Amino acid sequence: MQSSRLYNTLVLFGPSGSGKSTLLKNLLAEFPNIFGYSISHTTRQPRLGEIDGKDYHFISKAEMLAKIEDNMFIETAEYSGNLYGTSKFAIESVISENKICLLDIDMVGVEKLKSLSFHPFIIFIRPPSIKVLEERLRKRGSDPECSIQKRLEIAERELEYASKAEHVNYVIVNDNLQEAYSKLRKVVLQCVLNKKDTE
Ligand code: ADP
Ligand code: 5GP
Repeated sequence: MQSSRLYNTLVLFGPSGSGKSTLLKNLLAEFPNIFGYSISHTTRQPRLGEIDGKDYHFISKAEMLAKIEDNMFIETAEYSGNLYGTSKFAIESVISENKICLLDIDMVGVEKLKSLSFHPFIIFIRPPSIKVLEERLRKRGSDPECSIQKRLEIAERELEYASKAEHVNYVIVNDNLQEAYSKLRKVVLQCVLNKKDTE
């Protein structure tokens, strides 16, 4: 694909359960030579089906704190009682392969990334409603009830943050998955890869 890339980092940001990882996986599967995923570290427990070193680097809180002390991370955040962080290596290893680095990070991470030299393109993935978000979180069946409640509380703040146009580059409502992916694909091709003909 001939294009002149406008960004080296692309962030999908949005409430837990809004569909970020589903959409990211589709993008990575369709364009494996263009995008690479920034594998974060986290202290949360792996969900069923999640693979250490692929979805996340799952580590203990003590290990995470030691790595923070060693200045390994570009950014870290606490989310729903667990620590998350993007290591320098996670981003730089993707960029050094001449790929665009895809990140799935929260509001704190987005703000930090913007303050550094990465100049990310930020897409907010919005659920059709909080009610639908709650249904999807329950149906995913991966989080305990107290964690679902926290995730829904955080979702309200994330929706508020993303309602300000200056905070994100684009908003995609993930109602029908195929339609949301097709919109994501189009925006990414046009705005990130600077490709005029997006068919
Ligand atoms: P996130 O990464 O934002 O936490 P996921 O990608 O894990 O969200 O999606 C949350 C759940 O909702 C998953 O079970 C996923 O299969 C499902 N899901 C994602 N998009 C849709 C959609 N458009 N319609 C119905 N279910 C969806
Ligand atoms: P989950 O536990 O659902 O995988 O992720 C919870 C939240 O943490 C999501 O909003 C996700 O985007 C965010 N997250 C995942 N990795 C990172 C990271 O490295 N840094 C930051 N700041 N947030 C992250």
